[in-house]
Amino acid sequence: MRNFFCKALSILAVSCGAFLVRFNCFAENFTLCDGFSYQDIPCEVQEFMKGKSYKENEYVKFEDLRLCKVRHLGFDGKEHEGKLVVAYEVKSPITGQTVNVAKEVLEIFKDIYDAKYPIEKMELIDYYDADDEKSMRNHNTCAFNFRYINGTKKISWHSYGLAIDINPFVNPCFHPDSKLVEPAGTEEYLNRNLSQVGLIKEGDACHKAFASRGWEWGGSWNDPKDYMHFQKFSWRCQRPEPKYLTTNS
Ligand SMILES: [Zn+2]
Repeated sequence: MRNFFCKALSILAVSCGAFLVRFNCFAENFTLCDGFSYQDIPCEVQEFMKGKSYKENEYVKFEDLRLCKVRHLGFDGKEHEGKLVVAYEVKSPITGQTVNVAKEVLEIFKDIYDAKYPIEKMELIDYYDADDEKSMRNHNTCAFNFRYINGTKKISWHSYGLAIDINPFVNPCFHPDSKLVEPAGTEEYLNRNLSQVGLIKEGDACHKAFASRGWEWGGSWNDPKDYMHFQKFSWRCQRPEPKYLTTNS
């Protein structure tokens, strides 16, 4: 009898646990307009990200991130649905105001789409085992990835979902000291006068969409010269550690 009781209790506990997990993963949606929306990171996507782009850490929780779906034109000229994981709300280190980064990202990509500015591919970096080099080589545009800046112990802005790399194969990152170019084999695109599709130039539609909303372009830096990279807030700003504002706080 006692055994039966324990069994019943444990079944009840497991069911409640499953219910709570599902409840925690309840997806809240926001739609900017047709083709541009964000939601809480769905349970199955959380599972997919764990141990890849999402690693246990004290700074960023799933509640601090959102999954954005944005329409974009590929290099084939056709419409695609891209997915990006970015920050939800952060406190600006400049004004102290709360900024809805996810909504801003939707607005940025809406501008880019309206300008018919092509973005080749936009899928979660977890399809590449969160390997940045593999993702860049496959010309994949992506945002969140909990990692250190290459060759340092500093946490990347990508770790907060506050940086986005656009069309990385034709917009490489160059390190002047080591002469390293990322991704490998993209040296020809260090020539910024090429009229290559998707190559970002200051003042073009892509650059404007980000810069007009206070995102800094890595192409304006000297070391590294990071042409693919845009980040919310300047690198001179304090990082928004240790925690974001979440819907619960
Ligand atoms: Zn980057």
